[in-house]
Amino acid sequence: MIPGSFEYYAPRSLSDAVQYLTEHKDDVKILSGGQSLLPLMKMRLSKPGYILDIGRISGLDSIAAEGDSLIIGALITHAQIEDSELLKKQCPLLPQTATTIADVQVRNRGTIGGSIAHADPAGDWPPAIMALDAEIKVVGLNGERWIKGDDFFLGLMTSVLEPDEVVSAIRVPVTGNDKTAYLKAAPRSSGFAVVGVAVRMAMDAAGICSRIALGITGLTDKAFRASLVEQMLAGKKLDTKLIESAAVESTRNVDVIEDINGSSEYRRHLTHVYVVRAIQAAMQG
Ligand SMILES: Cc1cc2nc3c(=O)[nH]c(=O)nc-3n(C[C@H](O)[C@H](O)[C@H](O)COP(=O)(O)OP(=O)(O)OC[C@H]3O[C@@H](n4cnc5c(N)ncnc54)[C@H](O)[C@@H]3O)c2cc1C
Repeated sequence: MIPGSFEYYAPRSLSDAVQYLTEHKDDVKILSGGQSLLPLMKMRLSKPGYILDIGRISGLDSIAAEGDSLIIGALITHAQIEDSELLKKQCPLLPQTATTIADVQVRNRGTIGGSIAHADPAGDWPPAIMALDAEIKVVGLNGERWIKGDDFFLGLMTSVLEPDEVVSAIRVPVTGNDKTAYLKAAPRSSGFAVVGVAVRMAMDAAGICSRIALGITGLTDKAFRASLVEQMLAGKKLDTKLIESAAVESTRNVDVIEDINGSSEYRRHLTHVYVVRAIQAAMQG
Protein backbone atom coordinates (compact mmCIF):
# COMPACT_ATOMS: atom_id res chain seq x y z
CA MET A 1 0.00 0.00 0.00
CA ILE A 2 3.00 2.31 -0.40
CA PRO A 3 3.53 3.95 -3.80
CA GLY A 4 6.81 3.70 -5.70
CA SER A 5 9.16 6.69 -5.44
CA PHE A 6 8.66 9.68 -7.71
CA GLU A 7 9.82 13.25 -8.28
CA TYR A 8 7.19 15.80 -7.18
CA TYR A 9 6.63 19.16 -8.89
CA ALA A 10 3.93 21.75 -8.11
CA PRO A 11 4.08 24.57 -10.68
CA ARG A 12 2.27 27.91 -10.31
CA SER A 13 1.33 28.29 -13.96
CA LEU A 14 -0.31 26.17 -16.66
CA SER A 15 2.56 26.88 -19.06
CA ASP A 16 5.09 25.44 -16.56
CA ALA A 17 2.79 22.43 -16.09
CA VAL A 18 2.60 21.83 -19.85
CA GLN A 19 6.38 22.19 -20.13
CA TYR A 20 6.89 19.57 -17.38
CA LEU A 21 4.41 17.21 -19.06
CA THR A 22 6.26 17.60 -22.34
CA GLU A 23 9.63 16.84 -20.72
CA HIS A 24 8.43 13.70 -18.89
CA LYS A 25 5.67 12.62 -21.28
CA ASP A 26 5.87 8.84 -20.87
CA ASP A 27 6.45 8.75 -17.12
CA VAL A 28 4.43 11.60 -15.61
CA LYS A 29 0.99 11.76 -13.99
CA ILE A 30 -1.02 14.84 -13.13
CA LEU A 31 -2.27 14.95 -9.53
CA SER A 32 -5.60 16.71 -8.88
CA GLY A 33 -7.76 15.28 -6.07
CA GLY A 34 -5.77 12.03 -6.01
CA GLN A 35 -8.93 9.98 -5.42
CA SER A 36 -8.33 7.74 -8.43
CA LEU A 37 -4.59 8.18 -8.95
CA LEU A 38 -3.39 7.53 -5.38
CA PRO A 39 -5.21 4.19 -4.93
CA LEU A 40 -3.75 3.05 -8.26
CA MET A 41 -0.26 4.12 -7.15
CA LYS A 42 -0.62 2.50 -3.74
CA MET A 43 -1.60 -0.77 -5.41
CA ARG A 44 1.36 -0.28 -7.80
CA LEU A 45 -1.01 -0.44 -10.76
CA SER A 46 0.44 2.94 -11.71
CA LYS A 47 4.12 3.72 -11.10
CA PRO A 48 4.87 7.19 -12.47
CA GLY A 49 8.41 8.51 -12.02
CA TYR A 50 7.11 12.11 -11.93
CA ILE A 51 4.06 13.65 -10.26
CA LEU A 52 2.79 17.01 -11.47
CA ASP A 53 0.58 18.53 -8.76
CA ILE A 54 -1.64 21.16 -10.45
CA GLY A 55 -3.29 22.19 -7.16
CA ARG A 56 -1.31 25.45 -6.85
CA ILE A 57 -2.09 26.77 -10.32
CA SER A 58 -4.40 29.77 -10.02
CA GLY A 59 -7.44 30.20 -12.25
CA LEU A 60 -8.52 26.54 -12.20
CA ASP A 61 -10.63 26.80 -9.06
CA SER A 62 -13.58 29.04 -9.88
CA ILE A 63 -17.15 28.73 -11.15
CA ALA A 64 -18.15 31.75 -13.23
CA ALA A 65 -21.01 32.87 -15.46
CA GLU A 66 -20.03 33.86 -19.00
CA GLY A 67 -22.98 34.85 -21.18
CA ASP A 68 -25.28 31.85 -21.54
CA SER A 69 -22.60 29.52 -20.19
CA LEU A 70 -20.92 28.64 -16.93
CA ILE A 71 -17.20 27.96 -16.79
CA ILE A 72 -16.15 25.46 -14.15
CA GLY A 73 -12.43 25.23 -13.36
CA ALA A 74 -10.90 21.76 -13.52
CA LEU A 75 -9.91 21.87 -9.83
CA ILE A 76 -13.45 22.45 -8.61
CA THR A 77 -14.33 19.53 -6.35
CA HIS A 78 -17.48 17.43 -6.49
CA ALA A 79 -18.46 18.95 -3.11
CA GLN A 80 -18.04 22.53 -4.40
CA ILE A 81 -20.35 21.68 -7.30
CA GLU A 82 -22.83 20.11 -4.90
CA ASP A 83 -22.85 23.30 -2.79
CA SER A 84 -22.69 25.93 -5.54
CA GLU A 85 -25.70 28.28 -5.39
CA LEU A 86 -24.90 29.51 -8.92
CA LEU A 87 -25.06 25.98 -10.32
CA LYS A 88 -28.15 25.07 -8.30
CA LYS A 89 -29.94 28.01 -9.98
CA GLN A 90 -28.44 27.88 -13.46
CA CYS A 91 -27.43 24.28 -14.14
CA PRO A 92 -28.99 22.09 -11.41
CA LEU A 93 -28.10 18.84 -13.16
CA LEU A 94 -24.50 19.25 -11.99
CA PRO A 95 -25.15 19.64 -8.22
CA GLN A 96 -27.66 16.82 -8.46
CA THR A 97 -25.09 14.57 -10.12
CA ALA A 98 -22.42 15.53 -7.57
CA THR A 99 -24.58 14.36 -4.66
CA THR A 100 -24.52 10.82 -6.09
CA ILE A 101 -20.72 10.53 -6.25
CA ALA A 102 -19.09 8.26 -3.66
CA ASP A 103 -19.04 9.69 -0.12
CA VAL A 104 -18.28 13.02 1.55
CA GLN A 105 -14.54 12.33 1.79
CA VAL A 106 -14.19 11.55 -1.92
CA ARG A 107 -16.42 14.47 -2.89
CA ASN A 108 -14.29 16.84 -0.79
CA ARG A 109 -11.07 15.92 -2.62
CA GLY A 110 -12.08 14.62 -6.08
CA THR A 111 -12.28 17.17 -8.89
CA ILE A 112 -14.42 17.43 -11.99
CA GLY A 113 -11.31 17.86 -14.18
CA GLY A 114 -9.59 14.79 -12.71
CA SER A 115 -12.73 12.74 -13.03
CA ILE A 116 -13.23 13.66 -16.70
CA ALA A 117 -9.53 13.11 -17.53
CA HIS A 118 -9.62 9.72 -15.78
CA ALA A 119 -12.48 8.62 -18.09
CA ASP A 120 -13.79 5.91 -15.78
CA PRO A 121 -16.50 3.97 -17.67
CA ALA A 122 -18.75 4.19 -14.58
CA GLY A 123 -17.96 7.84 -13.75
CA ASP A 124 -20.92 10.16 -13.15
CA TRP A 125 -19.66 13.32 -14.89
CA PRO A 126 -19.42 11.93 -18.45
CA PRO A 127 -23.19 11.28 -18.89
CA ALA A 128 -24.05 14.63 -17.30
CA ILE A 129 -21.74 16.61 -19.57
CA MET A 130 -23.04 14.70 -22.58
CA ALA A 131 -26.68 15.45 -21.72
CA LEU A 132 -25.69 19.12 -21.30
CA ASP A 133 -23.73 19.32 -24.57
CA ALA A 134 -20.88 20.64 -22.45
CA GLU A 135 -17.36 21.27 -23.72
CA ILE A 136 -14.01 20.52 -22.15
CA LYS A 137 -11.11 22.95 -22.38
CA VAL A 138 -7.64 21.43 -22.61
CA VAL A 139 -4.32 23.25 -22.69
CA GLY A 140 -1.15 21.82 -24.23
CA LEU A 141 2.09 22.80 -25.93
CA ASN A 142 0.16 23.86 -29.05
CA GLY A 143 -2.23 26.12 -27.16
CA GLU A 144 -5.79 25.45 -26.04
CA ARG A 145 -8.71 23.62 -27.60
CA TRP A 146 -12.35 22.98 -26.68
CA ILE A 147 -13.65 19.44 -27.10
CA LYS A 148 -17.32 18.46 -27.10
CA GLY A 149 -18.22 16.08 -24.26
CA ASP A 150 -19.63 13.63 -26.84
CA ASP A 151 -16.23 13.46 -28.58
CA PHE A 152 -13.95 13.36 -25.52
CA PHE A 153 -14.16 9.74 -24.35
CA LEU A 154 -12.67 6.99 -26.51
CA GLY A 155 -12.94 3.86 -24.33
CA LEU A 156 -11.85 2.32 -21.04
CA MET A 157 -9.91 5.06 -19.18
CA THR A 158 -8.98 6.64 -22.51
CA SER A 159 -9.86 9.95 -24.06
CA VAL A 160 -8.65 12.28 -26.79
CA LEU A 161 -6.40 14.02 -24.23
CA GLU A 162 -2.78 14.13 -25.46
CA PRO A 163 0.07 13.33 -23.01
CA ASP A 164 1.12 17.01 -22.87
CA GLU A 165 -2.41 18.31 -22.25
CA VAL A 166 -4.14 19.42 -19.04
CA VAL A 167 -7.93 19.63 -18.64
CA SER A 168 -8.38 23.22 -17.45
CA ALA A 169 -12.14 23.90 -17.53
CA ILE A 170 -15.59 22.68 -18.45
CA ARG A 171 -18.13 24.91 -20.18
CA VAL A 172 -21.79 24.06 -19.51
CA PRO A 173 -24.90 25.89 -20.68
CA VAL A 174 -27.26 27.76 -18.39
CA THR A 175 -30.18 25.34 -18.63
CA GLY A 176 -32.89 27.93 -17.92
CA ASN A 177 -36.36 26.39 -18.16
CA ASP A 178 -35.06 23.04 -19.39
CA LYS A 179 -35.85 20.08 -17.20
CA THR A 180 -32.99 17.90 -15.97
CA ALA A 181 -32.39 14.84 -13.81
CA TYR A 182 -29.64 12.36 -12.94
CA LEU A 183 -30.49 8.95 -11.52
CA LYS A 184 -28.18 6.06 -10.88
CA ALA A 185 -28.22 2.55 -9.47
CA ALA A 186 -25.04 1.81 -7.53
CA PRO A 187 -23.79 -0.66 -4.93
CA ARG A 188 -23.28 0.93 -1.51
CA SER A 189 -19.71 -0.34 -1.27
CA SER A 190 -18.20 1.84 -4.03
CA GLY A 191 -20.95 4.17 -5.16
CA PHE A 192 -19.92 3.61 -8.79
CA ALA A 193 -22.81 3.37 -11.22
CA VAL A 194 -24.09 0.02 -12.40
CA VAL A 195 -26.10 2.36 -14.56
CA GLY A 196 -26.47 6.14 -14.44
CA VAL A 197 -28.78 8.21 -16.65
CA ALA A 198 -28.61 11.99 -17.16
CA VAL A 199 -31.44 13.81 -18.92
CA ARG A 200 -31.92 17.34 -20.21
CA MET A 201 -35.17 18.15 -21.98
CA ALA A 202 -37.37 21.06 -23.08
CA MET A 203 -41.16 20.88 -22.91
CA ASP A 204 -43.55 23.40 -24.42
CA ALA A 205 -46.83 24.56 -22.83
CA ALA A 206 -48.77 21.80 -24.61
CA GLY A 207 -46.51 19.15 -23.07
CA ILE A 208 -44.60 18.46 -26.29
CA CYS A 209 -40.96 17.50 -25.78
CA SER A 210 -39.20 19.81 -28.24
CA ARG A 211 -35.68 18.64 -27.38
CA ILE A 212 -34.14 15.87 -25.29
CA ALA A 213 -30.59 14.64 -24.60
CA LEU A 214 -29.66 11.56 -22.59
CA GLY A 215 -26.24 10.42 -21.40
CA ILE A 216 -25.74 6.93 -19.98
CA THR A 217 -22.82 5.55 -17.91
CA GLY A 218 -21.84 2.18 -16.44
CA LEU A 219 -22.91 -0.08 -19.30
CA THR A 220 -19.93 -0.29 -21.56
CA ASP A 221 -16.32 0.94 -21.85
CA LYS A 222 -17.43 4.60 -21.98
CA ALA A 223 -20.47 6.78 -21.43
CA PHE A 224 -22.64 7.37 -24.49
CA ARG A 225 -25.58 9.40 -25.80
CA ALA A 226 -28.82 7.41 -26.14
CA SER A 227 -29.53 8.83 -29.61
CA LEU A 228 -32.26 6.34 -30.52
CA VAL A 229 -34.24 7.29 -27.42
CA GLU A 230 -33.74 10.98 -28.20
CA GLN A 231 -34.99 10.48 -31.77
CA MET A 232 -38.09 8.59 -30.60
CA LEU A 233 -39.11 11.26 -28.09
CA ALA A 234 -38.18 14.62 -29.64
CA GLY A 235 -41.20 16.44 -31.03
CA LYS A 236 -43.71 14.13 -29.27
CA LYS A 237 -46.14 14.50 -26.42
CA LEU A 238 -44.71 12.16 -23.83
CA ASP A 239 -46.76 9.53 -22.03
CA THR A 240 -45.66 6.49 -20.05
CA LYS A 241 -46.23 4.05 -22.93
CA LEU A 242 -44.09 6.06 -25.34
CA ILE A 243 -41.32 6.63 -22.78
CA GLU A 244 -41.23 2.91 -21.93
CA SER A 245 -40.99 1.84 -25.56
CA ALA A 246 -38.28 4.45 -26.23
CA ALA A 247 -36.32 3.34 -23.14
CA VAL A 248 -35.86 -0.14 -24.64
CA GLU A 249 -33.89 1.52 -27.47
CA SER A 250 -31.30 2.82 -24.98
CA THR A 251 -29.39 -0.49 -25.08
CA ARG A 252 -29.90 -1.39 -28.75
CA ASN A 253 -26.52 -2.09 -30.40
CA VAL A 254 -24.79 -1.59 -27.03
CA ASP A 255 -22.32 -4.29 -25.97
CA VAL A 256 -23.34 -4.26 -22.29
CA ILE A 257 -20.67 -5.46 -19.84
CA GLU A 258 -21.19 -7.94 -17.04
CA ASP A 259 -19.29 -8.08 -13.75
CA ILE A 260 -19.80 -8.85 -10.06
CA ASN A 261 -22.51 -6.18 -9.92
CA GLY A 262 -24.73 -7.74 -12.54
CA SER A 263 -25.14 -9.72 -15.73
CA SER A 264 -25.54 -7.86 -19.00
CA GLU A 265 -29.21 -8.92 -19.10
CA TYR A 266 -29.77 -7.41 -15.63
CA ARG A 267 -27.97 -4.21 -16.61
CA ARG A 268 -30.05 -3.87 -19.77
CA HIS A 269 -33.26 -4.24 -17.80
CA LEU A 270 -32.06 -1.83 -15.11
CA THR A 271 -31.14 0.70 -17.80
CA HIS A 272 -34.61 0.58 -19.33
CA VAL A 273 -36.12 1.16 -15.89
CA TYR A 274 -33.72 4.02 -15.08
CA VAL A 275 -34.22 5.74 -18.43
CA VAL A 276 -37.98 5.79 -17.77
CA ARG A 277 -37.49 7.00 -14.19
CA ALA A 278 -34.96 9.68 -15.14
CA ILE A 279 -37.21 11.11 -17.87
CA GLN A 280 -40.20 11.10 -15.52
CA ALA A 281 -38.12 12.73 -12.77
CA ALA A 282 -37.01 15.46 -15.18
CA MET A 283 -40.61 16.07 -16.33
CA GLN A 284 -41.79 16.45 -12.73
CA GLY A 285 -38.78 18.53 -11.60
C1 LIG B 1 -14.09 5.03 -2.79
C2 LIG B 1 -14.28 5.80 -4.06
C3 LIG B 1 -15.54 5.87 -4.62
C4 LIG B 1 -15.74 6.59 -5.79
N1 LIG B 1 -17.02 6.66 -6.32
C5 LIG B 1 -17.23 7.39 -7.43
C6 LIG B 1 -18.55 7.53 -7.96
O1 LIG B 1 -19.55 7.06 -7.40
N2 LIG B 1 -18.69 8.25 -9.10
C7 LIG B 1 -17.63 8.83 -9.74
O2 LIG B 1 -17.84 9.45 -10.78
N3 LIG B 1 -16.40 8.74 -9.24
C8 LIG B 1 -16.16 8.04 -8.11
N4 LIG B 1 -14.89 7.96 -7.61
C9 LIG B 1 -13.78 8.63 -8.33
C10 LIG B 1 -13.68 10.09 -7.86
O3 LIG B 1 -14.76 10.83 -8.38
C11 LIG B 1 -12.37 10.78 -8.31
O4 LIG B 1 -12.37 12.02 -7.70
C12 LIG B 1 -12.20 11.04 -9.76
O5 LIG B 1 -12.38 9.92 -10.56
C13 LIG B 1 -10.79 11.54 -10.10
O6 LIG B 1 -10.66 12.88 -9.74
P1 LIG B 1 -9.39 13.37 -8.97
O7 LIG B 1 -9.45 14.85 -8.94
O8 LIG B 1 -9.31 12.68 -7.66
O9 LIG B 1 -8.21 12.93 -9.96
P2 LIG B 1 -6.82 12.22 -9.66
O10 LIG B 1 -7.03 10.97 -8.90
O11 LIG B 1 -5.85 13.20 -9.10
O12 LIG B 1 -6.39 11.89 -11.16
C14 LIG B 1 -7.07 10.89 -11.89
C15 LIG B 1 -6.40 10.74 -13.28
O13 LIG B 1 -6.65 11.87 -14.10
C16 LIG B 1 -5.44 12.57 -14.42
N5 LIG B 1 -5.73 13.98 -14.23
C17 LIG B 1 -6.19 14.55 -13.08
N6 LIG B 1 -6.48 15.85 -13.27
C18 LIG B 1 -6.20 16.11 -14.58
C19 LIG B 1 -6.32 17.27 -15.38
N7 LIG B 1 -6.80 18.42 -14.88
N8 LIG B 1 -5.94 17.19 -16.67
C20 LIG B 1 -5.48 16.03 -17.21
N9 LIG B 1 -5.35 14.89 -16.49
C21 LIG B 1 -5.71 14.93 -15.19
C22 LIG B 1 -4.40 12.04 -13.45
O14 LIG B 1 -3.09 12.08 -13.96
C23 LIG B 1 -4.87 10.62 -13.22
O15 LIG B 1 -4.44 9.80 -14.29
C24 LIG B 1 -14.65 7.25 -6.43
C25 LIG B 1 -13.36 7.19 -5.88
C26 LIG B 1 -13.18 6.48 -4.70
C27 LIG B 1 -11.80 6.45 -4.08
